[in-house]
Amino acid sequence: MNTENLKFPLITQHNAEYPREIHAAKEISRLLQKANFPGDDVWIDLRFDYALSDHSTSSIDVMLIRGAPHGIVKISLQGLFLMQDFEVMITQVIPHELAHVLHGVGAKVSGVEIQKPHDETWVGFFDQLTGNDHDIEASAKVRGDFDDRAIRLSRSAILVQCECGDAESYEVVADTTGNSAKLSNEELKCSTCKFPYVRVSRDSLPKRIADDQTFLEKIKCIKLQHTHLQR
Ligand SMILES: [Zn+2]
Ligand SMILES: [Zn+2]
Repeated sequence: MNTENLKFPLITQHNAEYPREIHAAKEISRLLQKANFPGDDVWIDLRFDYALSDHSTSSIDVMLIRGAPHGIVKISLQGLFLMQDFEVMITQVIPHELAHVLHGVGAKVSGVEIQKPHDETWVGFFDQLTGNDHDIEASAKVRGDFDDRAIRLSRSAILVQCECGDAESYEVVADTTGNSAKLSNEELKCSTCKFPYVRVSRDSLPKRIADDQTFLEKIKCIKLQHTHLQR
């Protein structure tokens, strides 16, 4: 598929390639247009990042020229979560992150420092973006059917198991000397079943996490082959 010509109004750069990524990019573009985002002077760089810890993140590098904001806003979305819970990513995570962007740019323009990222102003932007849909509540962390264990496993990590049963028994902890010591002393306990975690081989990964892992590896290979999608 040739994705180099995919254009979305108000999004200057992006690495959208898959149908769900393209759908998400369209939704971001639609909401930015609805919010009258100053796209000529503030460029949006949208990234689907499969190594991201959170559902989304954004950074704002904007300065004022004659009172108007100029610069670049980088928005990143966790691509694996788009596969796991598309609905929540579209209806909640995207407005959540865009509300941060509007909040951040607005604060630059009015010269104020944001004290709390999820303050009333942010909630106002969120409600505006979701069209005051009362079923969608603004919250600091969006809860979706997201499973980030495969993402955490792709870093330096230890796979551990408790007594919760099925796929719930598996947890991923950072591979640190502290955690290793706690594991051998049975000090690292599951907050649900209260049993101490034990180290297990990655061969015993439940199917759901193993599938996510395979998917992530495949994506990494594909994005490496497409140089324009790498960034
Ligand atoms: Zn947030
Ligand atoms: Zn447990």
